[in-house]
Amino acid sequence: MEKKFETRAIREQAARSQHREHSVPLYLTSSFVFDSAEHGQALFAGDAEGNVYSRYSNPSTDEFIRKICELEGTEDGIATASGMAAVFVSLAGLLNSGDHILVARAIFGSTHQILTQLLPRWNISHTYIDATLTDKWKAALRPETRVLFLETPSNPGLELIDLEFAGKFAKENNLILNVDNCFATPYLQQPVPYGADLVVHSATKFIDGQGRTLGGVVAGKAELIEKLRFFARHTGPALSPFNAWVLSKSLETLAVRMDRHCENALELARFLEKQPEITRVRYPFLPSHPQYALARNQMKQGGGVLVFDFSSGFNAARNFIDQLQMLSISSNLGDTRSIVTHPASTTHSKLTEEERQAVGITPGLVRISAGLEHIDDIISDVAQALHH
Ligand SMILES: *Cc1c(COP(=O)(O)O)cnc(C)c1O
Repeated sequence: MEKKFETRAIREQAARSQHREHSVPLYLTSSFVFDSAEHGQALFAGDAEGNVYSRYSNPSTDEFIRKICELEGTEDGIATASGMAAVFVSLAGLLNSGDHILVARAIFGSTHQILTQLLPRWNISHTYIDATLTDKWKAALRPETRVLFLETPSNPGLELIDLEFAGKFAKENNLILNVDNCFATPYLQQPVPYGADLVVHSATKFIDGQGRTLGGVVAGKAELIEKLRFFARHTGPALSPFNAWVLSKSLETLAVRMDRHCENALELARFLEKQPEITRVRYPFLPSHPQYALARNQMKQGGGVLVFDFSSGFNAARNFIDQLQMLSISSNLGDTRSIVTHPASTTHSKLTEEERQAVGITPGLVRISAGLEHIDDIISDVAQALHH
């Protein structure tokens, strides 16, 4: 019988060193020595297996990659210094001038900047599609469309995309399906069995889970990763071995942490739904979420993030944030500490008003990343800020 997710996240460990350490060792080194001039030549020529230089590979980084591949159910991967480096490598490492990308509209702010401000400089274009209007996707295809890029659930609108449909659509139209699985983590949702060719993560969020390091990873089909590896080795977005080691250790506790994040987020969402000054609460596992059935179908639980809207808009949202005593005001998410964010004035402030509206980021929208504090203390802080 295949071991369960929790067990694999802990027990899947690469070879131990001669010291027989129990915990995952850290290989903090920039380069590796060769046995001889000839050995060095063979390593560079690819005729011998082994580490050469940590921009190329490193045992601590490999350990993290192997663990992610194990949990996502895929073949190979590349670890990067941040989630954005993973997104960029996954696109720029594959595409050529003239290529076109189909993208679900509700997308992370910096991904939007890459698509609209950077890739067009190399003549790589994109078309935004509405994730929920799947019958319109076909019309957005072009002969030169090569990639379908999705984020589900989306940040911050918590819009879902039907992965089963997306997998079939990509296959039928010969597209590379690339899914940003950051909000769900491999514990709550695995895009690969639905047909995703690549999965990208910001490991900075729930994978680290303790607000310590930036990190990212692209995992997927070996032949695609091979192309991305050439790009990454020579452009240098490598993850630090130290951060890779932190992230490997973090994966051992991912399941228990996610269970609590999800439990706290759901309970807070239920509480907020009862508050008269709040017009709309969105959380994938609330029955009021327009895609509740889809969420139950493709996610194990609803995730650690929820968003809600103040009926009286911008000032009410900002006043609420300023009245909080325990929750941290920050732009990060997926930390042990609960965090409150006002997307319209921070993470998504670079978008135009119309772009924000299109993805449901209203001036009164507030995002909370439910931490691992006791739920009574989280609710009590939110309640006092609301009723201040
Ligand atoms: C944070 C985030 C990113 C970017 O990750 P960094 O580690 O901050 O570079 C990409 N996608 C999603 C969905 C995110 O939440």
